[in-house]
Amino acid sequence: MTVEDDKEITYPGGKVRLYVGAALSEGARVVPDEAQAHYLLHVMRAKTGEAVRLFNGRDGEWLALVTDLSKRACALVCRRQLSPQSDVPDIWLAFAPIKKTPADYVVQKATELGVRRLQPVFTRRTMVTRVNLERMRANAIEAAEQSGRLDVPDIAEPQPLDRLLAGWPADRKIVFCDEAGEAPPIAVALETLSDGAAAILTGPEGGFDPAERELIRRLPNVVPVSLGGRILRADTAALSALALWQAVRGDWR
Ligand code: SAH
Repeated sequence: MTVEDDKEITYPGGKVRLYVGAALSEGARVVPDEAQAHYLLHVMRAKTGEAVRLFNGRDGEWLALVTDLSKRACALVCRRQLSPQSDVPDIWLAFAPIKKTPADYVVQKATELGVRRLQPVFTRRTMVTRVNLERMRANAIEAAEQSGRLDVPDIAEPQPLDRLLAGWPADRKIVFCDEAGEAPPIAVALETLSDGAAAILTGPEGGFDPAERELIRRLPNVVPVSLGGRILRADTAALSALALWQAVRGDWR
């Protein structure tokens, strides 16, 4: 039986999907945090007995009913699992952080595109010196809730490029978006790549500097790629490369 033909189930204002930290299982009682409770009660005007969908990145998606409603709080009791846990493909996005709005945009869109980890990287020409990880995480959660995925991407601590590369896992390929050098078209390069863990690496507005390009290209795991003859903005480059990876090597196949 799908939720839609379950006559007893009604939903608040729209179909609400919430990411929670608590374990989800039949009968589990979940207390939404303050912001979620506000959203449920005052924006969606949830009523007792109405249903929401919950996920936590581990236990799949659950149908839960609103209970213990007061002016400011409520609880959600899990009724049944709607789908088992499934994870996005093992693709990371390592990107030089950019000014506020494009960074929010990159996090939201990369989450929709099914990125597993977002790794901010500081490069020589990176203009941004601090990143707001909490804000990135909030953006990732919101995009995950909206997109129907059952997990939220990890937001990794930012790292300088050299340190990131020095500790790079041996079994993870780097798809290096290099606008300045000889590199095969991305689709061709991805076709010849074997399946397995990978990361897309893109630079800041000013691009990678020559020493960085050399450092990256010397690594054994690196696959340099071109995104065509036009220079793309950092956010466009990152999201295009991610979409192409999903199409050729990921779960759009
Ligand atoms: N150096 C450039 C701008 C860099 S664009 C300049 O100032 O003219 C920002 C990042 O997007 C680059 O570092 C690269 O990783 C990626 N990128 C942009 N256009 C690209 C292309 N045509 N091919 C490959 N990567 C590209």
